[in-house]
Amino acid sequence: MIANVLDRADVAVVGAGTVGVSAAFFLADMGLDVVVVEREHIAWGASGRNAGFLWMHTRNPGLPVDLARAGIEIIETLSPDLGPIEFRRRGGMVFFETDAQRRVMEEFAASRANDGVEISVLDQQQARELSPLLPRNAIGATFCPEDGQINSPKFVGALAHLAVRKGVRIHEHTAVLSLLRDGDGLHGVHTWSGLVLADRVIWATGAWSGELEREGVAAPVRPSRIGVLVTAPVQEKLNVLMFGPGGAKQYAIVRDQPSFREEDFTGPWEDGENGFEYNELVAQREDGRIQIGNPEDDHGGFDQRTPMYGMKMMVDSFLDRWPHLAHIAIDGQWSGLIPVTPDALPIVDAFSEIPGLFLSAGHIYGNVAGPSSGRLIAQLANGETPFMDIEGLSLTRPGLAYGFDRAPVPVDEGEGAFVRW
Ligand SMILES: Cc1cc2nc3c(=O)[nH]c(=O)nc-3n(C[C@H](O)[C@H](O)[C@H](O)COP(=O)(O)OP(=O)(O)OC[C@H]3O[C@@H](n4cnc5c(N)ncnc54)[C@H](O)[C@@H]3O)c2cc1C
Repeated sequence: MIANVLDRADVAVVGAGTVGVSAAFFLADMGLDVVVVEREHIAWGASGRNAGFLWMHTRNPGLPVDLARAGIEIIETLSPDLGPIEFRRRGGMVFFETDAQRRVMEEFAASRANDGVEISVLDQQQARELSPLLPRNAIGATFCPEDGQINSPKFVGALAHLAVRKGVRIHEHTAVLSLLRDGDGLHGVHTWSGLVLADRVIWATGAWSGELEREGVAAPVRPSRIGVLVTAPVQEKLNVLMFGPGGAKQYAIVRDQPSFREEDFTGPWEDGENGFEYNELVAQREDGRIQIGNPEDDHGGFDQRTPMYGMKMMVDSFLDRWPHLAHIAIDGQWSGLIPVTPDALPIVDAFSEIPGLFLSAGHIYGNVAGPSSGRLIAQLANGETPFMDIEGLSLTRPGLAYGFDRAPVPVDEGEGAFVRW
């Protein structure tokens, strides 16, 4: 049977999340003809389900900070053309409730000076002045003025619109079934709706990127499920982004502090032994709705429904932090899949086994790393020198070789610096 040709282009991008859409935008900006193929619809995956944090506060030094800063810069530069994506930079807080937590967060704040990330420690009054919705038991917070916020589905939609204006064609509800190969040569992809012919293919399918392994190449990315709950609009203002102690402990840069003890940062609602963690965060939409989360577990594989225990953690922690809002209605609830790699860094590289095939996947903090990775993979696919050194994001780096069996993974073998995030 001869398959019909759906489209043809210089480059086919698979996946219309923040990474795929960013790659398509930058490729089109370089003058290339681009087609995006998406199994569901634009921002259907993690990019349409997330909390909107543009988070610098706890980013590890080196590549994570550089990727994040570059990503925020891209969003800032494009924001006049992107329209109402709720982009703002009012900073972010990590609040603490005990002296033990304060000690760790003070150590953390001091350690950040070397990394070039500005963090101050606020007392309770200073924190409440910045954020009237500070939880009732908070005794202070660390504050980073660099942190910002977007509405992520709006951002991806607006960037897709800009890409389309540059000539990109986006085929939604069109799953890629396999690569189109002839011997070692790559000619595009087979989709549900026909062939997309292109001699370069960028694979940007987030948590589903492991599917690429059926083509005989390694794509070490797996899903981790995290949930969100959104309330009806609340009049009081949060103003900033916020993590709680439970959210802080997910970051190696906090856990590495001398005074850190896991039990001091674990909420009574968590059940780590059974694989349920609560990466406590809170953000407020421009319309006043409060978004809380994130219960995290990996029991569900690719199931994007929230487990009962995840719901319990969100409700229990919310009622503990803001008992006066117990009457507030729940406006929505969902989960999504973050794409995790063994060393928690994204992969931005070309496959040596299949010339013309590129991978940009494994983004845990894709709101910031997604736009920068999109630009980097576009540069690679166009034969340009990437705007930053991406050796550490390669498919052959040591951090990937450990696989998922040993977690956390030593990223820098010499130093033994462990990261999970
Ligand atoms: C609840 C939640 C909260 C989060 N909060 C934040 C946050 O505050 N800040 C932050 O930086 N990050 C956050 N993240 C992480 C962030 O959302 C991800 O890092 C980012 O969205 C990853 O983007 P992506 O483009 O790689 O993947 P995705 O957005 O998942 O896009 C992948 C796309 O590929 C498509 N696809 C898969 N297989 C195929 C196929 N065979 N053919 C065609 N298309 C295919 C999927 O349908 C999907 O649309 C959060 C994630 C979740 C789930």
